[in-house]
Amino acid sequence: MMYGKIIKGIAGFYYVQAEGTVYECKARGKFRAKGETPLIGDKVGITVTEYEGSEKGDYLQGSIEEILPRDNKLIRPPVANVDQGLIVFSVSYPQMHLDLLDRFLIMMEMEGIQARIILNKVDEESQVDYQEIVDGYTKSGYEVYCVSAKTGHNVDTVRGLLKDKTSFFAGPSGVGKSTLLNAISPELKLQTGEVSAKIKRGKHTTRHVELLPFDGGGYVLDTPGFTSLQFEEIDAQELREYFIEFDKYQGQCKFGGCSHIHEPNCAIKTAIDNDEIYKSRYDNYISYYNQLKSIRRY
Ligand code: GDP
Ligand code: ZN
Repeated sequence: MMYGKIIKGIAGFYYVQAEGTVYECKARGKFRAKGETPLIGDKVGITVTEYEGSEKGDYLQGSIEEILPRDNKLIRPPVANVDQGLIVFSVSYPQMHLDLLDRFLIMMEMEGIQARIILNKVDEESQVDYQEIVDGYTKSGYEVYCVSAKTGHNVDTVRGLLKDKTSFFAGPSGVGKSTLLNAISPELKLQTGEVSAKIKRGKHTTRHVELLPFDGGGYVLDTPGFTSLQFEEIDAQELREYFIEFDKYQGQCKFGGCSHIHEPNCAIKTAIDNDEIYKSRYDNYISYYNQLKSIRRY
């Protein structure tokens, strides 16, 4: 048996990259019997059913014999074994909304996927004091990279982050995700800019999730990933677990189960007063907390 990774799936076929070749595979019936469905990103064991040199089609044929246990699994986009999400925002246009950035971060923490923040378009005049944002998120425990996909500033650094990992780019439309990917790896040839915006939208519904292999090792998801988010099925009391900067104060509040909002002798509130926690993040925490509280539960 040979081991590889499913990089795309079309009409019941799974395309598995293994040892430098892509095999067109069917999943064995036993998976269906067990209610298991292979996912893009799955590490799988395959056997080759068609020998090298036969001329049936563009791909050698194989069959999936085994799906290895998943590290994680996203529902939307449907993909398994993702190592990291690079959240891209622009310092110019479209304008940055930290509230959206925090939602992305919460989402990544919920999924257990490492998040890194990329501030693109630093070649343009910024609409925000992005140095303050860099400092604030760095203080919170995130890595922040200031880049310009246009001039190439720090593009090498981002390329280095992707090596040997399975990554996706997330962020609002227009921030430069496709441009950045093209700058990182021209062989990927993604569509960018206004010209393609319409096509991209049109294609969106029929488009298949696909992992693009890098020449240097690693994969990147070719969909824009998450462009907007909403909270689902999360309890207000759970929210604090996804603010990583709260971790080190655990157990230090007077009340167990402290929501860090109204309670006296709260270690988080003290940390805010001492400027140890980025205030903007905390304000968003309160705002989400209240939103979640107001959702009626049945
Ligand atoms: P996406 O929707 O996030 O994939 O964004 P695109 O990659 O399609 O880029 C949106 C627009 O921003 C395009 O017109 C790009 O040329 C432009 N753009 C992308 N990166 C940069 C950058 O670093 N600097 C500047 N000035 N413009 C950029
Ligand atoms: Zn507290």
